[in-house]
Amino acid sequence: MKPKSKLEHEIVAVSNSLPAIAHNQHKPAFSKCFSHSAVLSRNTAFCLECGHNWKQEIQIKNQKVTCPHCLKKLEYTNKYSNGLKETDYYQIVTAVKDFQIIRMVCISKTMKKLQKPSYFAHEVMQMFITADGSMRYLSKNVMGLSMYIDQWITSSDLELKSNYNTPRLRLTPSFIQPRIKVLPIIKRNGFCGKFYGIAPQILFREILTDSIAETLIKSNQMDLLYYHLRNTPIKRDGKIWGALKICIRNNYIVNDAKLWVDYLDLLEYYWKDLKSVKYVCPADLRKAHDKLMSRKQKEIMKKTFEENKKQIGKNQKHYLKAKQHFFGLTFSEKNISISVIESVKEFLEEACYHNHCVFTNEYYKKQNSLILSAKVDGIPTETIQLSLENFEILQSRGRGNKASKHNKQIRSVMIRNLHHIQNRMKAA
Ligand SMILES: [Zn+2]
Repeated sequence: MKPKSKLEHEIVAVSNSLPAIAHNQHKPAFSKCFSHSAVLSRNTAFCLECGHNWKQEIQIKNQKVTCPHCLKKLEYTNKYSNGLKETDYYQIVTAVKDFQIIRMVCISKTMKKLQKPSYFAHEVMQMFITADGSMRYLSKNVMGLSMYIDQWITSSDLELKSNYNTPRLRLTPSFIQPRIKVLPIIKRNGFCGKFYGIAPQILFREILTDSIAETLIKSNQMDLLYYHLRNTPIKRDGKIWGALKICIRNNYIVNDAKLWVDYLDLLEYYWKDLKSVKYVCPADLRKAHDKLMSRKQKEIMKKTFEENKKQIGKNQKHYLKAKQHFFGLTFSEKNISISVIESVKEFLEEACYHNHCVFTNEYYKKQNSLILSAKVDGIPTETIQLSLENFEILQSRGRGNKASKHNKQIRSVMIRNLHHIQNRMKAA
């Protein structure tokens, strides 16, 4: 697109006056963004950093290895096929006249056995932000029909573009050159030099146009800022904003925004005063959240149980008949214990505790499955569904129907104890 307005002509002129990025400027990004890898083939390890190779008998999974020649710590890769290429982005943040400029550089590293890696860098975008938060940008062209959003045509020139919907404008760089130059108004609106994982082009525009973002950044509520920009925008008439004002007044920093918002929902559910420091700014957020959470879970469980009492009783009879011969089975290793669920009520308890569908989807009726409850240090952690046909673990899920951090250990305890279940089947 040819520049038309006065502003566009000015942007193109400033762009042309920007100094070319010297090779030396890329170097910190090359070392920060890329991995150091080794390949193992036929008992030989190849360092993709210096080209050296040496005899290496076994590869221990996920273990790092040190190259005896260049002494770099390397990680074995299984992505190597005739070479390995990594691509990433870094940014240079600068300001000229009244423009906040973000220069986006695409970098790549090509690695081959017996060679030193080769690097390539080219500037692919320049974003110009003005004091009112509006943005224009120049970009190289991309391949039109590519399945990737960023198949840059290296030989194309940086040109003004008019497509503001492209995901390329939301790319987050893996590295930002530490020497940055920022417009005074951005500093005045609270920017303190840190980006907190938010792409500079997004953060700057928010700071300039969104007074909520400005308030969050000025009050150092960075996790809430991240939540506001990445998850759900905070609204001025909502409960979060009201509670946030209390936090700010009391110098209370919310370190886990998602958990805190969840906690506010619980406070609201229990008609607690959302204007009270006592509730809104708990000394131990996790503890306060979990206390209300478990209260709510128990209530829901009780209610569901009362409402379905008759049906549960009926289902319990069937369940007892079908799975009785597994009852009493418990396996423990270290702090993990796994036991067979023995009643439909327990299904309900598991479901309420983990907020998953083991009760609503009537897993107690599944003929060829056995459902077990895994606890870590006595705390319900995952629910396991085991196939009684091939003894595969069909699923093992915890809170929110997701694997917990103990998933691997739980699965291996389960696998080591499968013979107990098989024995019970034979005996039945
Ligand atoms: Zn090496």
